Amino acid sequence: MGFIGDRIRDLPTDVLTYRGIDGVGFFELDAALSAPNLVCAFSTRVGGVSQGPFASLNLGMHVGDDSQTVLINRQRLSHALGISLDEWVTAEQVHGGAVAVVTDSHRGRGAFSKELAVPGVDGLVTNTPGTWLVCFYADCVPMVFWDIAKGVVGIAHAGWRGALTNIGGAVVRAMQERFGSPVGEIRALIGPAIGPCCYEVGEDVGEKFRSLFGNDVLTQRGGRMHLHLPKANYQYLLDGGLLARNIYISRLCTACNRDMFYSYRRDKGPTGRMAAVVGLRE
Ligand SMILES: [Zn+2]
Repeated sequence: MGFIGDRIRDLPTDVLTYRGIDGVGFFELDAALSAPNLVCAFSTRVGGVSQGPFASLNLGMHVGDDSQTVLINRQRLSHALGISLDEWVTAEQVHGGAVAVVTDSHRGRGAFSKELAVPGVDGLVTNTPGTWLVCFYADCVPMVFWDIAKGVVGIAHAGWRGALTNIGGAVVRAMQERFGSPVGEIRALIGPAIGPCCYEVGEDVGEKFRSLFGNDVLTQRGGRMHLHLPKANYQYLLDGGLLARNIYISRLCTACNRDMFYSYRRDKGPTGRMAAVVGLRE
């Protein structure tokens, strides 16, 4: 198992536990950090029925895989997590900074057809239990948020464009403004994503991040610039008022772990998508 090599100081980093249920592999938040009614999981490519470059648990409908096959995979993951696919809510994911507030009337949006995903957003928040916020990714940074006391959860999809728009901060603000979550009570988990070990970027992208975050998020490897996208998102969450002790970060690199994850950057062609899932059981 490859890990993001650049450990973030003073941050609990080994926060995910691998589980396999009926052959479906996923990572979930360690029990010690979780809450009894919290579902917080990141799927892998293990345990599905997709073939070829999508083998096997592809959950993305927009990548060229057969839709019925993807639905079987989504049902398999739902079963493993003990949730219903009918209650999934997905975002269109346009690499932007917009967030939608989700209620039980949204249940099922984008679960069975990508056209019905909540349009124009990369972040979702809800205070409705039994509503599962889902985003899809393969290198981009998935972030999940929860405030157990207020019963509020959120999710964000942050590629480098989304990170620059501070989509994570937008989810935090939505939790505060719409549901009254005290920022000191919000916890966040930055999930498996492409790490600085594997994420080479051009000068133009690197300079954008340098101007916002300084050199902390950039490293030079073999004369090439590498971006630490999870760390940039982490910095934005700190800037947004989250307490450092309430931000957890996975050290799993999607590109390093070929057997476990799809990687858009590594696979250089058609590939699948993992899902991040967050919600509260009723
Ligand atoms: Zn890597």
